[in-house]
Amino acid sequence: MGCVLLTGIAGFIGSHLGESLVREGLSIRGVDAFTDTYAPRQKRENIATLSRSVMVELVTGDLARDDLRGLLDGVDAVVHLAGEPGVPASWGRAFPTYVERNVIATQRLLEAATAAGVNRFVYASSSSVYGPDDRPLVESMVPRPLSPYGASKLAAEVLVGAYAQQRGLSTVSLRYFSVFGPRQRPDMAPYRFIEALLDRRPLPVYGDGRQARDFTFVADVVAATSAALTASVPTGSVLNVARGEPVEVRDLIAILAEELDVEPRIEHRPPRAGEIPRTEGCAEAARNLLRWEPVTDLRAGLRRQVEWQLRRRLDAETLLPGAAVDALSYAAVPAPHAGAPGQPAAVEVVRVGGDEPLRGLR
Ligand code: NAD
Repeated sequence: MGCVLLTGIAGFIGSHLGESLVREGLSIRGVDAFTDTYAPRQKRENIATLSRSVMVELVTGDLARDDLRGLLDGVDAVVHLAGEPGVPASWGRAFPTYVERNVIATQRLLEAATAAGVNRFVYASSSSVYGPDDRPLVESMVPRPLSPYGASKLAAEVLVGAYAQQRGLSTVSLRYFSVFGPRQRPDMAPYRFIEALLDRRPLPVYGDGRQARDFTFVADVVAATSAALTASVPTGSVLNVARGEPVEVRDLIAILAEELDVEPRIEHRPPRAGEIPRTEGCAEAARNLLRWEPVTDLRAGLRRQVEWQLRRRLDAETLLPGAAVDALSYAAVPAPHAGAPGQPAAVEVVRVGGDEPLRGLR
């Protein structure tokens, strides 16, 4: 395969996928808008390694607004991960951002990919398209999203299907289930719980803590996505990417507390609108069509994430002039925060505006 266009390359999943594709010997063009949904500094950290690779061309730009001419030149396949994540934040006035970054951006990219005649378009969909079913979720179920976020992801998934059926684009939509691991977004539950445990703060739990998520380790999600680039699948396929072993939030907390040897203090808060009570994905179709198998169990993956969060704290601390760091008392190290002296930006972020075609930075 020639060049892969990877959108959302600086994000949690995108940066891992980029590194994996480079390891496979592929050249990639990565595009990201470095949105401020969470600290752009974290995104620059995510791509520190990628930005040094000769196999990677980085482009800063907004898929919903910028002229996409040229972005797909020489591209064989697209993986579209760019989007606005997060269920609770999607209610109310934020919704136009979800429409813009999840729906408009996808439609514009689909047009560009169809015009360029790419061989495969892989779209990152979500388990949030499902309704409140108390059974293993299978792709044939009628989607009934409970949140504006889920609705926007489903709208984009439907568009991907339309381009497959009517415009001859070879597409695969992957419904990711609660991805976790190093570089996880700071709004996600495991990240928040680890930070709270390290700070000896109470852990905010929405509802009774019995809601269950089918947490899937990021390297397994990357492997499924990578396989979807070349697998022989019916066009327009929609596949769950899940471990199929849901865990209740209170059990997740118990594992993290054990790993960190900290007694958790749970602070119950009212349930948040839009959250699915239980997600359990059936990934039989992905197993068969992608020849994919998730290999990382929950505890092993959480340990990797804990190590990453500890290392970030340590790095932030060592970069502060005169800071005394006791490597053995990680829990006492304060969290890195925006504006603290940090690592220099790995790439310079330049906003490409208006009608300007997207430009590479290097
Ligand atoms: P992320 O926020 O870390 O990464 C998304 C990236 O897209 C960000 O770096 C952001 O700057 C970029 N972006 C947003 N809008 C853009 C635009 N208009 N143009 C260019 N770049 C833009 O999120 P993530 O957790 O890595 O998720 C990646 C994808 O997977 C998203 O589409 C998300 O909906 C989907 N997904 C994630 C999960 C999960 O558990 N993390 C679960 C289901 C689906």
